[in-house]
Amino acid sequence: MFSKVLIANRGEIALRVIRACKELGVGTVAVHSTADADAMHVRMADESVCIGPPSGTESYLNVAAIIAACEITGAEAVHPGYGFLSENAAFVQVLEDHDIKFIGPSAEHIRMMGDKITAKETMIKLGVPCVPGSDGGVPTIEEAHRVSDEMGFPVIVKATAGGGGRGMKLALTKADLDEAFSSARLESKTAFGNDEVYIEKYLQKPRHIEVQIFGDGKGRAVHLGERDCSLQRRHQKVFEEAPGPSITPELREQIGSTCAKACADIGYSGAGTIEFLYEDGEFFFIEMNTRLQVEHPVTETIFRVDLVKQQLRVAAGEEMTFKQEELEIKGHSIEVRINAEKLPNFTPCPGKITTYHAPGGLGVRIDSALYDGYSIPPYYDSLIGKLIVSGTSRPAALARLHRALGELVIDGVETTIPLFHALLDEEDVQTGDYDIHWLEKWLDKQAEA
Ligand code: ADP
Repeated sequence: MFSKVLIANRGEIALRVIRACKELGVGTVAVHSTADADAMHVRMADESVCIGPPSGTESYLNVAAIIAACEITGAEAVHPGYGFLSENAAFVQVLEDHDIKFIGPSAEHIRMMGDKITAKETMIKLGVPCVPGSDGGVPTIEEAHRVSDEMGFPVIVKATAGGGGRGMKLALTKADLDEAFSSARLESKTAFGNDEVYIEKYLQKPRHIEVQIFGDGKGRAVHLGERDCSLQRRHQKVFEEAPGPSITPELREQIGSTCAKACADIGYSGAGTIEFLYEDGEFFFIEMNTRLQVEHPVTETIFRVDLVKQQLRVAAGEEMTFKQEELEIKGHSIEVRINAEKLPNFTPCPGKITTYHAPGGLGVRIDSALYDGYSIPPYYDSLIGKLIVSGTSRPAALARLHRALGELVIDGVETTIPLFHALLDEEDVQTGDYDIHWLEKWLDKQAEA
């Protein structure tokens, strides 16, 4: 095992990694911007290094400063968390050149899955079902019309470099295609410096189902079932659960083993998530995330595993201790994302926390870097915590979520907590009857009322 790991991230995910390191007896180095000098991850790590000014580009994305921090502290490996440099193949390459281990997959796999057209082509070859669509990139508007006419509207134009819901435009009818095509290209060019797009059939009422996989990098891989993340706003997940309410054990085994085999075949190393849209009993691949996901705790809960410890083990060259036949689901788990945002418009709401009280008791986990008196800086993502509950069944987990939300106190800033109170009153949420568009429609209705 490593003797010291640097965590190239902040907030709750930095704490999550520090906790796993501590339990393994691994030393920890936090890095932080000047705006985060008082942050909890800095307090909790054994050592810390300031790597730059507040802006993420100059600090948490500053590769030279992170490498220097490794060299100063003697850290042998870097855990990237999620976001920031977690899916940056060039960063992995630089670490390798400096003999520092990246806790994650190879640069080659990150590159392969980071380009959505290549990812899709790879998945098709590996026998993973994909959304029907164009054969690779669509370079001209004439080609876009030809492909879409053949497939039938509605279609979605997607950027191969896209992420975080950007570079994605819907064309409900042929008349919308010119606008969708040019704006997807422009948005992608601006955000990612790449205007290559492809076209997919737009699914009207799918659920978002993602499969957690884990590979040892030597040709062995397992799956840890699925998560249902269908409750989304602007393609961002807000409420996640495992197992998926619509997935039977047979379906789970079928899609899970297909995903595990695909990862074994490419020699994938570490944690990864294969995302699907699921409609009328069929799975359609949309993308693969080559990192730990925000919502990984619901999987950890139902399988009683620690994904971060396994990441550390595999990166250190040890054997992964997962065996497919031993991975068995127990109960149900739900996560809600607590953001410092003002409803109803989800406007970011940074500021000083005057009171923080975390819920507790059986089956409650809170992953958060908040503390009394902490000032949430305005420069970063508005996620300030995740409340994760478990229960013997979905209704039991929902009841526990209701109870735990009632105990949670975050004063001083506005948060998304009231959204979850309201959602728990909805029959569709209670029965798990929703698709990826449900939340947006519900929010529209609330706004009208
Ligand atoms: P990103 O990398 O930007 O998150 P994804 O490809 O993962 O993009 O898609 C994000 C979300 O966009 C999905 O969860 C889904 O809600 C919607 N989406 C993507 N592709 C389709 C499609 N073909 N049909 C319907 N909705 C889609």
